[in-house]
Amino acid sequence: MKKFILFFSLFIFSCSEETIFFENSYVIENINIIDPIDGLSSSKTLVITKNKITEIFNSNEIKVSKKNKIFNGEAKFLIPGLWDAHVHFAYQTELADSMMDLFLLHGITSLRDTGGPFDFVNSYKQNSLENPKTKARLKIAGPLLDGKFNVYDGSDHTHPVLSIKNVDDNELRKNVEMLIENKVDFLKAYEMLSPSQFKLLTELAKKNNLKLTGHVPLSINVEIASSSGLNSIEHFRNIELSMTKMTNDLLKERKAILKNKSALRGASLRSLLHNKQRMRSIYNLDSSKIKNVVDILAKNDTWQIPTLKLYKNFASKSYKSKQYDSYLNLLPKNIGENWRKTISQLEDNEDKERMDFTKWQSSMVKYMHKKGITFMAGTDTPIGFLVPGLSLHQEIEELTNSGLTNLEALKAATINPSKYFNLQDSLGRIKPNYIADLIILNQNPLIDIKNTRKISAVIKDGFFMNRKYLDSIKTKKN
Ligand SMILES: [Zn+2]
Repeated sequence: MKKFILFFSLFIFSCSEETIFFENSYVIENINIIDPIDGLSSSKTLVITKNKITEIFNSNEIKVSKKNKIFNGEAKFLIPGLWDAHVHFAYQTELADSMMDLFLLHGITSLRDTGGPFDFVNSYKQNSLENPKTKARLKIAGPLLDGKFNVYDGSDHTHPVLSIKNVDDNELRKNVEMLIENKVDFLKAYEMLSPSQFKLLTELAKKNNLKLTGHVPLSINVEIASSSGLNSIEHFRNIELSMTKMTNDLLKERKAILKNKSALRGASLRSLLHNKQRMRSIYNLDSSKIKNVVDILAKNDTWQIPTLKLYKNFASKSYKSKQYDSYLNLLPKNIGENWRKTISQLEDNEDKERMDFTKWQSSMVKYMHKKGITFMAGTDTPIGFLVPGLSLHQEIEELTNSGLTNLEALKAATINPSKYFNLQDSLGRIKPNYIADLIILNQNPLIDIKNTRKISAVIKDGFFMNRKYLDSIKTKKN
C-alpha cells in the first residue's frame, strides 16, 4: 500500500507540473553555475528580477511560463561579474572613456581605482552610479597620498599626476580630511611618506572606517606597516626589503638617502632606492625572515594584490609578441598605434633580473596562499601596456600559475574584492538576493582558466547584454 501511494504521488507531481510566471523577471534555464564559494552545480534555472537574482531552482523541478523571457543556458557556465581591483582611470586620460566599455566587454563589472586626481576619477564613479546597467561599479581612493618628494607629480609622461604631495603631517591631515569629506571609498598610502605621516594616515583611516591600501613606504619596514594598519599591499611593493639578513642596514641606508641631499624629484629618488636595494634583497633572501614577514601579514590579515601580469610583461617582453600586438586592436585606433610605437622602441631581449623578480613574486603568492593570506586580482591597467579588461583575465591566469586553483583565482576576482568593500552579502556570488552582475561563458573555466575569456553574455545590474550587443561595443571603439 505504501509503495502504491508513493508511486501515485510521484505520478501526480510530474503530471500536474504547472508553469510558473515570474513578474518583472527573466529566466536563464539549464545553466551550470560556478559560485566562488560553493563551486560548480549543474543544470540550474535562475530567475532575475529587476537587478537581482531572486530564485535558483534545479532545472528539472520547475517549468517556467512561456510568458517569461527565457534564455537557454544549456552547456554554458555562469560566473559572477569580475572585479579588476587595481586600475588607474587617470593614467592615460584620453583612454579613460574607452576603459569603461573595454571592462564591460570583458565581463569586468566592478573596479577599484587605486589612484588619480579626485575630481577626475570621481566623475567616472558618479557616471557609473547614474548608469548602473552599462557602466562598471567604481570604488575610488582619489589621489595617492605621497610625502614631501612625491613620485607621480606629472613631471614626465610615465609619471602623470596621480598623487598629492604632503610636505608634513598637517598637510596630510588636511588632504585626507578633504578626501573623506568627498566620500572616497578607501585610501592609498604611497612610498615617500615619512614614518609619522604613515602612522597618522593609519589612524585617520581607522577613525573613519576606511580601508588603507598602498605601497610600503620606503621609510619603514613592512612589519611596521602591516601591524600599524595597512590593510592591503599592492604589487608586494617593498616587502622584499624586509626579507633579507641585511634588512636593518637597508633601512638605515634608505633613511639616509631619503633626506634627498641632491634635491632629486620624487620619481628619481624612488628609482634610485629601488635600483639600489630591490635586486640586492632578492638575491640575498633569508628564509626565516620571509617566514617572519609572512606570519605577520597573515596574523594582521593584510591582503595582497600582486599584479603578477604587470611585472611578467616587463620581464618577458611578451608585449613584443604577435599575439600581444593583436590585443592592441581592442584599443581605440590612435591609442593602439601609439602603444605600438612605444613598444617598438623598447628592447626585446628578456630581462634576467626582472625575470628573477617575477619568479620570486610567483613563489611568494604560492607561499602566502598556503599561509592563508587573501588575494585580490588586480592589473594596474593601463600601465605596462595592459589592455583594460583583457588584462584581468591574464592576471587570473597568472594567479593559477602561482598555485591558486581555478576556483580560488575566481574568488580573488569576485567575492574577495566584494568583501574588501563589505559587499559580500550582496555582490560577488550566485545566490538569491545577490546583485545580478554575471557572465555567461561558453566553456568551463574550472577545466581551463582561459575559458573566462569565452564570453557569451554579460549581465550588469540585471541588464542582459548578449554577444551581439557586446560586439557592438567593440566596433564602436574603432
Ligand atoms: Zn597602480
